[in-house]
Amino acid sequence: MTATTGGIEKAASVLRAGGLVALPTETVYGLGANAEDPAAVARIFQVKGRPPSHPLIVHIAGAEQLDDWVEKVPAAARLLAERFWPGPLTLILRRGRRVPLEATGGLETVAVRVPDHPVALALLAAFGGGVTAPSANRFGSVSPTTADHVRAELGDGVDFVLDGGACRVGVESTIVDATSEIPAILRPGGVTREDLEAVLGRPIVVPSASPVRVPGEHPSHYAPRARVVLVEPDKVVAEAELAQELGHQVGVFLPPSLADAPVKAHAVVALPASMAAYAHGLYGFLRELDERECDLVVASLPVEEGLGLAIANRLRRAAGPRLSA
Ligand code: AMP
Ligand code: MG
Repeated sequence: MTATTGGIEKAASVLRAGGLVALPTETVYGLGANAEDPAAVARIFQVKGRPPSHPLIVHIAGAEQLDDWVEKVPAAARLLAERFWPGPLTLILRRGRRVPLEATGGLETVAVRVPDHPVALALLAAFGGGVTAPSANRFGSVSPTTADHVRAELGDGVDFVLDGGACRVGVESTIVDATSEIPAILRPGGVTREDLEAVLGRPIVVPSASPVRVPGEHPSHYAPRARVVLVEPDKVVAEAELAQELGHQVGVFLPPSLADAPVKAHAVVALPASMAAYAHGLYGFLRELDERECDLVVASLPVEEGLGLAIANRLRRAAGPRLSA
C-alpha cells in the first residue's frame, strides 16, 4: 500500500508540530523528525533507546539544498552528491548552523543524504525542511523494511507511519566521510565501493574489509533475537544439523550453491543468488527466523563485492557479542 497525498500532508504537519513520522526510503524505514527541532530530535533517541552520542542522518529534498545544511563542501563530495543523489549514499560533511548538535551527537560534522523514494521525496517537498532520521527500530535490532515491521517494533512511539511498501534496497546507505578531498567509506551500504571508485577515479578505503570471520571487535547491531553464527559456506549444513541435534531451534541461511541440500533444521531460508535480492530480503529473513522462534541462526558470508560487502558487514555485526545475553 502506498501513502496518499493526504497522508503526506498529514505527515508534514506532524513534523511541523514536533512529532515523529516513520517514512519509507529506498534503504530501510526511517524514524523522522524536523532536523531543526532539538526537542523532536531528542524524542527519536528516547523512542529508539539509542544513546544520544550516536549521530543521525539529515534527509534533504535535493543536492541543490546541500549548502543550506553543511559548510565547506570539497569538490569530491560535490561530485558524489551529483552522481549518486537521490540514492543510498550518505555524506559526512562539516555541520552547517541549521543543524542542532542534538542531531550530530555533539559532532561538528553532519551526515546528509537525499533518499531515492517517491514518498520520502514527496514528504520532504511538502515539509520544506530537513528530516533527521535513523532507522525506525529499537537501538541495535534489525532495521525495518516494511511499514508493518515499524508498527510491530515501535507501536505508539511513532506519531504517524507513512506506508510506501517494501524498501527496494533493503540495507542502509553507504556512509562516506567526505570532509576531505580523499573520501573514505565508514559503513558499506546500498551504493557499492566499485561504483564510488568508478566515479572518483581512484581506490576508496573501506575499514571493515578484514578477512576475519567472527570478529570480537564488532559490537552487536542489526541483530535479531536469535544468536547468529557465521561459518564457511561448506560448513553451514553440518553446523546447523549439529546445533539442532544439541537441542537448538536452528534457522539456516542456505547459500544458493546448496539450494537442493536437505537440512535437518527448524527453519531454512533459501538465499537468492543475486546480491540485490539478498540485500532486499536480508532483514525480513532475520525477522522471519525470530518469528519462527529460532534461537540460533547459522549463516555464511557472501563474497565481499558489490552489495555483498554491505551484506557481510551487517551479518558480522549481527553476529557480534551482545551487551546482554
Ligand atoms: P542509522 O540511520 O541508524 O543507520 O545510523 C546513522 C549512521 O550514520 C550511524 O552509523 C552513525 O554513526 C553515522 N553517522 C551519522 N552522522 C555521523 C557523523 N557526523 N560522523 C560519522 N558518522 C556519522
Ligand atoms: Mg539503525
